[in-house]
Amino acid sequence: MEYQYDDQNIFAKILRGEIPCKKLYESEHSLAFSDIAPKAPHHVLVIPKGPYVCYDHFARTATDAEILDYTRAIGAVCDELGVAPGTGGNGYRMIANAGNDGVQEVPHLHVHILAGRNIGPMVLMRP
Ligand code: AMP
Repeated sequence: MEYQYDDQNIFAKILRGEIPCKKLYESEHSLAFSDIAPKAPHHVLVIPKGPYVCYDHFARTATDAEILDYTRAIGAVCDELGVAPGTGGNGYRMIANAGNDGVQEVPHLHVHILAGRNIGPMVLMRP
């Protein structure tokens, strides 16, 4: 079964300008803004502007231009935050949740970029 995109999700409303966001970066195909409930000193969400539910949906069906733009947007956000280890930053955690087991709340692809403190263990240690 292919993904069904729900255009009433909160990030679709942000993209349409129906609700505000604290924008950090925007390009032709991507948008980055602060998470409304930050879990770290820096907590930024990077989303594609197209109607993609999660990462595998995007990876299989987005255009090359969208994929390139989104990947570059993530790099630009890391630069903007000054967290990229390669340029003297202290690092970050990037997370993309998907579906029920991934505990995805908003069904529009987003990566979380968390930084500004040690983010701790990757996941709770439970097999
Ligand atoms: P996920 O569980 O990966 O789907 O995460 C969804 C994230 O969206 C959570 O970290 C929320 O705090 C965040 N969020 C929900 N509504 C908004 C909003 N209006 N603006 C910014 N972030 C939001």
